Amino acid sequence: MPERRYDVVVIGSGPGGLAAAIAARKEGAEKVLMIERDVELGGILQQCIHNGFGVEIFKEDLPGPAYAQRFINEMLGLKVDTLLDTMVLDITPERTIFATNKSLGILSIQAEAIVLAMGCRERTRAQIRIPGSRPAGVYSAGTAQRWVNVEGFMPGKRFVILGSGDIGMIMARRLTFEGAKVERVLELMPYLSGLNRNYVQCLLDYDIPLQLKHTVKQIFGNSRVEAIESVRVDDNLQPIAGSEEIIPCDTLLLSVGLIPENELSRKAGVKIDPLTSGPVVDNHFHTSVEGIFSAGNVVHVYDLVDWVTEAGLAAGKAASRFAMGLMESNRSYIKMKAGVNVRYVVPQLVNRTSIAQEEVRLQMRVTRPSEEPVWVEVSDGKNLITRRALPYARPGEMVTISLKPSQAVAIQKAQELSVHVNPRHIK
Ligand SMILES: Cc1cc2nc3c(=O)[nH]c(=O)nc-3n(C[C@H](O)[C@H](O)[C@H](O)COP(=O)(O)OP(=O)(O)OC[C@H]3O[C@@H](n4cnc5c(N)ncnc54)[C@H](O)[C@@H]3O)c2cc1C
Repeated sequence: MPERRYDVVVIGSGPGGLAAAIAARKEGAEKVLMIERDVELGGILQQCIHNGFGVEIFKEDLPGPAYAQRFINEMLGLKVDTLLDTMVLDITPERTIFATNKSLGILSIQAEAIVLAMGCRERTRAQIRIPGSRPAGVYSAGTAQRWVNVEGFMPGKRFVILGSGDIGMIMARRLTFEGAKVERVLELMPYLSGLNRNYVQCLLDYDIPLQLKHTVKQIFGNSRVEAIESVRVDDNLQPIAGSEEIIPCDTLLLSVGLIPENELSRKAGVKIDPLTSGPVVDNHFHTSVEGIFSAGNVVHVYDLVDWVTEAGLAAGKAASRFAMGLMESNRSYIKMKAGVNVRYVVPQLVNRTSIAQEEVRLQMRVTRPSEEPVWVEVSDGKNLITRRALPYARPGEMVTISLKPSQAVAIQKAQELSVHVNPRHIK
């Protein structure tokens, strides 16, 4: 098996991977390789033909493929090598990558640094255990999106969507455009799980009803879905007897969460955070394995693609510096801890040395919504380090706060910092 050698190898060509490859080349890495299992570059953006991409980075409202194409052009212009239709099968902690490709066979590639950018996959029916028969017509929202937007195939005429994730809401509107009837979007939780802007633009604008605190109790149909039974749930998310309703439909779409794709990361020995299901990373997106970096939805599920691009740029730059032997070897860290009403914080670790040199952006999701104004606060347990006021906090929208170099003196001696999201009336 002939071995190839690269300074930086990026796995996955979504917005995270594209940005990483670009940044790695711009930072000075000479030999950069992008490996993608699909036959085209662009990742999930290829099937996201709706607009809403690039508002933060380009101050433009672009469709997904147009957003991706700008980065594809830039990456190819920087002479990054690409291997498409190539599936990475294994990565060792010594950064040897094993991949397979139809015409080249099994490949062995040695990297000085690797950026993991494999994105995430959708939760399935089996994972949320919906009882009932197993007819055709139960699909994940992303599968339906691929069929409608890329393959030109409509999976049904009359839909119910379970879950108010962004993909489900976007598909509710898309299917309506194609002449289908979307009967209902059901959401188990008492709040939206996707972005409010998608609720307004995809459901409200098209009179598609959303029922919070509702789920699917049963699926009916033998060869094809004929109906589902919905049920209201109580505050403990338990079904309320007597609230059942039969909703005739031929298709049930599931938009019930995304899971970062970390099988490869585990094989490489990368430590995974049980709260994010993604690698534990520092502020340079360096994982627990030397020379392996990670960016995008594989780290945690982002709300906006612009932040994925930003993370990819940071990870690619750091990977390039590592490959060239320019990265600080000091891996002394301050731990970031999720405090009041915070589900997780990324990065989980902040490099003690670099905090004096650069701003560190902490990103998190809240556990429960607050429609009242909140403080996002970082403290060392005794002292407040910094805080930021927000008009509200919702689980569907990421919350961000930055640590600035001017705060380094206050932070550097801490072992741990915790982040809290408290109502603003609490002093
Ligand atoms: C349906 C949908 C709608 C969205 N709508 C919006 C929106 O309106 N606005 C917005 O800002 N954001 C939106 N997003 C979010 C945004 O698209 C994602 O945040 C972004 O695509 C994640 O980028 P990524 O690079 O991490 O992963 P992805 O884009 O998922 O790319 C990962 C890539 O890795 C490849 N890969 C995985 N494993 C391997 C392997 N073993 N070997 C080789 N290659 C591999 C995959 O094939 C894929 O191409 C949407 C997301 C989805 C799913």
